[in-house]
Amino acid sequence: MSRKINGIGASNGVSIAKIFKIENVEIEIDSKKIEDSEKEINILNSAIEKSVEQIEKIKMVASKTLSEEELEVFDAHIQMAKDPEMLLEVENLIKNENYNAAYAVDKVSQQLTQMFASFDDPYMRERAADIKDVSSRIIKAILNIETTDLTTIDEEVIIVADDLTPSDTAQLNKNFVKGFLTNIGGRTSHSAIMARSLEIPAILGLTNITELVSNGDIVAMNGETGMAIINPDDQEIEKFQEEYNQFLNHKKELEKFLNKVSASKDGKKVKIASNIGSVADAEGASKFNADAIGLFRSEFLYMDAENWPSEQEQFESYKAVLEKMGNKQVVVRTLDIGGDKTLKYFKFPEEMNPFLGYRAIRLSLDKKETFVTQLRALIRASAYGNLAIMFPMIATIDEFKQARAIYDQVYNQLKEEGHQVSESIEVGMMVEIPAAAVLTEQFCKYADFVSIGTNDLMQYTMAADRMSEKVSYLYQPLNPSILKLIKMTIDGAHRAGKWAGMCGEMAGDINAIPLLLGMGLDEFSMSSTSILEAKKLISEINFKDAHQLVHQALKCENQEQVQEVLNSFWENK
Ligand code: PEP
Ligand code: MG
Repeated sequence: MSRKINGIGASNGVSIAKIFKIENVEIEIDSKKIEDSEKEINILNSAIEKSVEQIEKIKMVASKTLSEEELEVFDAHIQMAKDPEMLLEVENLIKNENYNAAYAVDKVSQQLTQMFASFDDPYMRERAADIKDVSSRIIKAILNIETTDLTTIDEEVIIVADDLTPSDTAQLNKNFVKGFLTNIGGRTSHSAIMARSLEIPAILGLTNITELVSNGDIVAMNGETGMAIINPDDQEIEKFQEEYNQFLNHKKELEKFLNKVSASKDGKKVKIASNIGSVADAEGASKFNADAIGLFRSEFLYMDAENWPSEQEQFESYKAVLEKMGNKQVVVRTLDIGGDKTLKYFKFPEEMNPFLGYRAIRLSLDKKETFVTQLRALIRASAYGNLAIMFPMIATIDEFKQARAIYDQVYNQLKEEGHQVSESIEVGMMVEIPAAAVLTEQFCKYADFVSIGTNDLMQYTMAADRMSEKVSYLYQPLNPSILKLIKMTIDGAHRAGKWAGMCGEMAGDINAIPLLLGMGLDEFSMSSTSILEAKKLISEINFKDAHQLVHQALKCENQEQVQEVLNSFWENK
């Protein structure tokens, strides 16, 4: 009998193959009192040496498939294995408490793992897995326990494990390993990130998959939907085979667009850009050959920190992204905090409607020293690439002028201090409040560009909290009122001779793209994985036809009617 299970789809792709289960060898670590601590420390040191050699070997195997940046995890593991502070603590336990080496390593690693696992930040929490990975390697080396060598797999399998460590994942040969399923893990765990770069389908967080299957069982999996079927019947296999073929054809089709210019069928060029929230996300932007970064949500640097991030810390992050993108433009949005985004180290005032309250540029203009620190970091980083800066939640021209005046002061100050800075930083604004949308032309006397934030523009236009499930039906990207505001914004910017982008979710919405193209949107910024799909779609549409479509859509009364207009557009194309 077949059995369906659902987990977190962490890496796209469809596979059917037999199971290769990695058994979790429970290592018994006894605490033994030792007499010769000198000897025990020698055992420890040679185990560390052996572990470092193993990690270096894995890194070498992995270097054939992973990028420089992805390989950094192994350098981090080597550093962890050799970490002098950790070593000192282990040695102290051996010398002062007479513990055996394996027990001492386990004790120190458990303390560290617990500390990392207690962080709020999911990225930091997942570093606990790295510490476990390294220490269990060292303990196995001390106890002379062989580790499973995944590089020897030479037939098509889907791996099932409790969890896959980064070093496990890096050893997988994608010619044979057709997917993996694990009990634990999520979309941001290292194994998920690596699975995506290796393009191996993966479903994580399946809770008890290791108990449900035995070696030799067949499993069919879809890494996009997160659904797996254990021992599928003939009909289910046939269905998966179809999904698999569709997936392959679609992927091949999309890859053709990687190096193509982003343009409509009749040659209107546009930019298709990436939204990112961290330095690591820039990897995806470059993998999918984004034309630019249209939105770097800088608030994640603040939300991941334990205190206000310093000028230098911010500078390093902005510089890293700018260098990664070369001469492609990187639009960094200044701190957009408040509403649903809070900080561990700052108490926001109690408000009835935080989304309408003290947030984003309102906070930056009030807490000027924080704003200046961020602008200093940004402007200093401008020497390393093609930087643009934009301010979030601008409601009035006066706010924009105030923000820009502070920017100008900081810019001049840095030049006086002798810093190298770019001469061509564009300074723009988000349009996410209707007041800014209707007045874009006047705003653009002062702003170099605008980027439409439809996520907020919709909540403010419809007066519907974007976090509330109950009113989510009012999230209506195709509602003619929203379309009119977007068109007004784009037209206003163009009349002032400026460019208009969009970085809200709507920019990557396949359904809405023909309308946005027809309105003359210059830059579509979206999650990196949507880029090729958007590029393909735009290449199939004539700008002239899309322009006509906008006229029809704007005459409609509601979004259902707009959808009908869109449907007949696709039918007649
Ligand atoms: C938006 O509001 O559309 C936007 C891009 O910003 P955020 O989703 O970060 O509020
Ligand atoms: Mg917003």
